[in-house]
Amino acid sequence: MPILRIPVWQYTLAGGSAAVLALYALGSPWAWLILQAAGTVVLFGAARRHRCGWWLFFGASAAGTLTSLWWTIRGGEPATTPMGLSLAVQYALHAAAAVQFSRLRRPGGAAEAGAVVLALAMLAWSFIVLPYLGQPGYRMVDDALAMLYAVLDLAILGTALRAATGSRRVPGGLVAGAGVLLVGAHLVYAATAAEGTRPFLPGGLPHLVLQFWWVLIVAAALHPRAAQPRAADAAPGRVTLTVMYTAAVASPLLPAIADPSAIVVVPALLTAGLCGLLLLRIVVLARLAERRARQARAALHEQQVLQRRLAHRAGHDGLTGLANRDLLLDHLGRAVAGDRPYALILCALDGFKEINDTYGHHVGDTVLCQVAGRLLLFAPEVELVARLGGDEFGFLITSGTDAAALAERVVTAVSAAPYAVDERRIHLTARAGLADGVPGNNAVLGDADLALRAAKQAGGARTARFDESLRAEQSERTRIAAGLRQALADGTLFMHYQPVVDTGTGRATGVEALMRWRRDGESVPPGVFIPVAEQTGLIGAIGARALRLACAQAAVWHREHGLYLTVNVSTHQLRDPGFTTSVLSTLADTGLPAEALVLEITESVLIDAADTPVLGELRAHGIRIAIDDFGTGYSSLAYLHALPVDILKIDQSFIRRLQDPPRPQDVSLTRAILELAGSQDLLAVAEGVETPGQADLLRDLGCPLAQGYHYGRPADADTIDTLMREHALHAAT
Ligand code: C2E
Ligand code: MG
Ligand code: MG
Repeated sequence: MPILRIPVWQYTLAGGSAAVLALYALGSPWAWLILQAAGTVVLFGAARRHRCGWWLFFGASAAGTLTSLWWTIRGGEPATTPMGLSLAVQYALHAAAAVQFSRLRRPGGAAEAGAVVLALAMLAWSFIVLPYLGQPGYRMVDDALAMLYAVLDLAILGTALRAATGSRRVPGGLVAGAGVLLVGAHLVYAATAAEGTRPFLPGGLPHLVLQFWWVLIVAAALHPRAAQPRAADAAPGRVTLTVMYTAAVASPLLPAIADPSAIVVVPALLTAGLCGLLLLRIVVLARLAERRARQARAALHEQQVLQRRLAHRAGHDGLTGLANRDLLLDHLGRAVAGDRPYALILCALDGFKEINDTYGHHVGDTVLCQVAGRLLLFAPEVELVARLGGDEFGFLITSGTDAAALAERVVTAVSAAPYAVDERRIHLTARAGLADGVPGNNAVLGDADLALRAAKQAGGARTARFDESLRAEQSERTRIAAGLRQALADGTLFMHYQPVVDTGTGRATGVEALMRWRRDGESVPPGVFIPVAEQTGLIGAIGARALRLACAQAAVWHREHGLYLTVNVSTHQLRDPGFTTSVLSTLADTGLPAEALVLEITESVLIDAADTPVLGELRAHGIRIAIDDFGTGYSSLAYLHALPVDILKIDQSFIRRLQDPPRPQDVSLTRAILELAGSQDLLAVAEGVETPGQADLLRDLGCPLAQGYHYGRPADADTIDTLMREHALHAAT
């Protein structure tokens, strides 16, 4: 904990040194003890916090303090061999601690250091102390102790070098410095011992040098990097094992080598064998545990790899390798929870279903993969490119990329060049919807979906951006869909009929059935509810209902007035494989002959359905097919001869231009269409005839049939009934 930006260990260094010098001047032996005891307490704290080497330093400090206490109580320098030896404990523990401190902390590391210290002690006892014990003369024992201390000094110097060159320089340097002080104290002792002073007692220079050991070690203990990093769990290395094995086996033998009598040799050999076997057993167990740990680590690694693979599979599309819907939702969730704006682009391919239906799924899949390849080129600009399923893709933008420009570039990239599959060149276009995300609001996916839908419905533009009006439209669509479901049950869907008239005679030859819906007393235009019925798939049931009602009514008019019936049909109905059967059974049930039925299909739907057998089947049964709203679709005129149709209904927009007086170019355009119909043996019907002038002109141009407010507005069956009876009466008189 730094005080005034100076770390505590530096205070300790300065304060401790000052205290030592002050006490030296004071000269009280008991005051030294207080200083040493305080250092021991600090080291005890460090040992509890950092463990390992610090327990040994604590031990060294405690041993040193006890030695001082002993010597102080006895009141003199070492008088006996044990007293002389007592200081060696502090030295030996310091050596072991310094070894331990300079290496990574490892489980069992203290035990290893302890083993080394004990082996050294055994060595010293057997060869230094034992030979001199019992021999007369104090000096001899003194010499033996000197040799023991010399061995310890060498060991300490070794550790000091190692600690000083270690990576954790500052505490390492302090520990090394403390070691040098221990050795230094001995050198001073060696230099001054001959003078007969009491060097290791207070007042002596070695004693003073020794006190600085406490200062340095305590400062090191308070250093922030005093804690040693932990090493990975591993069995001891080859060198450590060899040292420990040698120590374990050799130690019991040492006394026998020093005194090779049978009494000593036999138990020494037996003990050495026992130690060797025990250690061998421990090493085998350690190796086994390590192998198991290695296997467990390998299994864990394998499991992690598998988990990563599974996670990748769970978040990616199996076919294209792009992120899947789940992963996109996951990233979206994070964007919603974040605080930065984001945007989502949804992109759908036009007519992909037809590619699948026409060429098969193999080709469809290949095209999808190629599309994904092109879309991936945008990956660096966005957070995620995903395939949401089918032919729909998503781009999540969380950076500053211009989302609108990106949406444009995406749709351009999809249609830029044809897709090559086997020998085929397949052209594709795409639409994109874009929505801006607001942090905390997770409606962006629905918004982008609405924008995509708007882009699909809009004529020219291929991209659309979400705005609130789209949501209002969506909720209106939902309301309409719910109403239509109800209408199917309660009969509020009914038919109106509009006469189709022979321009020459002015007589009705047929009627077009037009569906009507009265919701809550108000009539909803077909232009509003038919698209919703198509989007929701309700058109199947609704169309079948319309056909049945109209056929039942027209059967009567056909019998009485020879009228034919023309009914509008949607794409969804044509895609239903049971459509032909359903039409035929309706005809059979209602009694309307197939020849009296015309099915009207708009130009674009007709081109979609041209490849399917359904139109051929219907025509084979005598049912005629009409192109509705001709001129509004995007089929080329050259394509017309290839379509399986019988009647061509010219769209109202052409007829509307034939206002009095009509412009020559408009007249010639209508004439051209009529000539085209004639050349293809198609019966032409002009739609939307509102004025007598238009009616006359069309008759003069040779248009055989016409329909419009001029002849009669769509009306209920009773009104048409009355009209037909009046006409019949008129004709009869
Ligand atoms: P459409 O098949 O082209 O029907 C002709 C539309 O023109 C009808 O609109 C009709 O009321 C309107 N119309 C007829 N004469 C005139 C005229 O002189 N001037 C003007 N301005 N309009 C005229 P409606 O009834 O609103 O139907 C709109 C569209 O809804 C139909 O266009 C048809 O595509 C669709 N539709 C109507 N009934 C059904 C149905 O039962 N099934 C399906 N799938 N679609 C239907
Ligand atoms: Mg029609
Ligand atoms: Mg029409």
